[in-house]
This record gives sequence, C-alpha cells and structure tokens, in this order.
Amino acid sequence: MSLLPRSFDVKPGEKFDVIIIGMGPAAYSAALYSARYMLKTLVIGETPGGQLTEAGEVDDYLGLIGIQAADMIKVFNKHIEKYNVPAIMDTVESFRREGDEYIVKTKRRGEFKADSLIVAIGVKRRKLNVPGEAEFTGRGVSYCSVCDAPLFKNKPVVVVGGGDSALEGAELLSRYATKVYVVHRRDEFRAQPIYVESVKQKPNVEFILNSVVKEIKGDKLVRKVVVQNLKTGETRELDVNGVFVEIGFEPPTDFARQNGLEVDNHGYIKVDEWMRTNLEGVFAAGDCTGMWLGFRQIITSAAQGAVAARGAFTYLTEKKRKK
Ligand code: NAP
Repeated sequence: MSLLPRSFDVKPGEKFDVIIIGMGPAAYSAALYSARYMLKTLVIGETPGGQLTEAGEVDDYLGLIGIQAADMIKVFNKHIEKYNVPAIMDTVESFRREGDEYIVKTKRRGEFKADSLIVAIGVKRRKLNVPGEAEFTGRGVSYCSVCDAPLFKNKPVVVVGGGDSALEGAELLSRYATKVYVVHRRDEFRAQPIYVESVKQKPNVEFILNSVVKEIKGDKLVRKVVVQNLKTGETRELDVNGVFVEIGFEPPTDFARQNGLEVDNHGYIKVDEWMRTNLEGVFAAGDCTGMWLGFRQIITSAAQGAVAARGAFTYLTEKKRKK
C-alpha cells in the first residue's frame, strides 16, 4: 500500500462530473462516495492525508483501532484506488464558472473541467506573531509536536495552547523532553478532559496558566522563551530549546472569498445540511467549513465528505433531468 494516491491517466482539459479540491479525510471520503455514485471523479490536492500527516496514532476512528496515521492514509489510497479514482498532487489556484461548468485552474497541471465541485481544502496553522517566532521556525520553533517531538529528546520545551493539539502534543513530548512547560492563556482547557488528565499525571510537565508567550530568544537555536502572566503582568524567562505552537488554525477565508464562496462570521465556508455552498453545484466539506466548528475529527470530516458527495450526486441527477 502506498502513501501516494494513483493519478491514473488524467489529461489537462479533461471533464469530470465532480472535482474534489483537497486531499484530507473529507476529500478521500467524498471521492469514495462520488465513485460509488458512479460519478466521474478527480481529486486534486497538495498533500495526501492533509492534516492527518501530522497525527501519530489514531484511536478515535471507529473500527480502526490504534492505527498509525500513515497507515490510515495508505488505506484511504487503497480504498479510492479500488474505484479507480484518479488523484493528482497539485495546488488549485482558483476556480471559475463558464456556462454551466466549472474550470479548475491548477499551478502545474493546467485546467480541468467539472459540473460540480467539492471544496475540502482544510485549514492553515495559526501563528503566535511574537518576536523570534519567524526567525526560529525550524530552529526550535515547531507547529507539529507529532512530527518533531523526537528531535527534542533530553531537552526542555514549551508547548503553547490549551486545545486538543497542545495537550496531545504535551503528552507526547513528555516522553522525550526533560521538561515540558504548557503555556496557556486561560486557566481552563478547551482540550478533551482525557488529554488534560493524562498530561496532569506527567511528573515532568509544568502548567503555566493565564500566561502568553511574549518573545522567543536564542542564537542559532532557541534558548529562551519570555512568558507573561496576564493577571499579574509579571514576566518569566524559561530556558528551553523547543517551542511548540499548537494554538489552532486559520480559516480558509482568502481562498473562499477569491472564488466567490460565502464565509460565516468566523471565516469558514458557509454550508447547509447537504454541504451546499452559496454557489450552485459547489459543495464544501471538512475543516474548511463552518459545520461543527470546535469539533474537528477525522470521522466528522469523513462524514461531511460523504454528505457532500451525496449532495453533488443529487445536484447532477436533477441537472440531467431538467435537460
Ligand atoms: P483549538 O481547539 O482551536 O485550540 C487552540 C488553543 O490555542 C486554545 O486553547 C486557545 O485558547 C489557544 N490560542 C488560540 N489563539 C491563541 C493565541 N494567539 N495565543 C495563545 N493561545 C491561543 O485548536 P487545536 O487544539 O489545534 O484543535 C483544532 C481542532 O482539532 C479542534 O476541533 C480539536 O478538537 C481537533 N483536534 C482533535 C484531536 C483529537 O481528537 N485527537 C487532536 C487534535 C486536534 P482559548 O482556549 O483561550 O481560546
């Protein structure tokens, strides 16, 4: 089984019933369901697995007990290959409507046409925007505990955030690092209690609550992090070599607006219960949508992908009937 999906034989300019933009769990699920509805389907995305590439062991997807994320991606590829769905790795720059079809413009492979689109582009990581963050990215500052934890064996680190990513990250890092400081701006956690409880049991983890990172300092590598207590105003310097920024994600507002998709108050793509967007024949699924905001799971993304494919099938069937 491969980590890369098969592209089969896709030619620029080729027309499809559905083009799925993205390559995370929502996109794979949409591809599977579209293919099972016998729609001619193409997947275009940058990274097979999307954010799943940043996960370690996954134990909350029903039926796949304790599976490694990489193995999960291989299984997803195998499943869409069974239905001969081509998937090409490329960046979708934009899409536009011409007549009653959509033209999808990619960075490297030219344009493709479709009667319907499913946008499943996910989200991008949020930055702290403090001095030193950009300078030390890749030199101690990381946005992915799961990817980089082993690099900090026997070193002290900071994890910033109070959500699932931060707490899951702190749990993993506590197995490698000498010391893990969890810096969170409040004294309550957004993370699921199971993660918080697990981290609280770790002897080498210290919580620094009601606090924010003000600056990251170092020479060639990170050496110190300046933290400020929001209640007292006091600052403290932590001697660390790693800073894991796990403070959530930015919505895909720019891509959405540039392509005429309406967004909600939080900047996520607006969808209805059939994952329909404001554009006729365009559906959206997964983390890029405003659906179930605050509960982002592989299984919920997969569910949205399936519903979007069903929406596309209904739309295309109606369209044919009216002709
Ligand atoms: P999140 O749930 O949005 O949490 C982000 C955390 O960072 C919050 O605690 C937030 O503080 C803090 N934060 C945000 N902006 C900040 C800033 N500028 N400075 C300092 N702190 C800041 O993000 P996430 O933890 O990455 O999770 C994203 C989604 O993925 C969630 O739906 C989560 O459930 C899901 N997820 C699930 C799993 C799992 O189930 N295994 C694992 C990882 C992620 P406040 O709390 O004060 O807002």
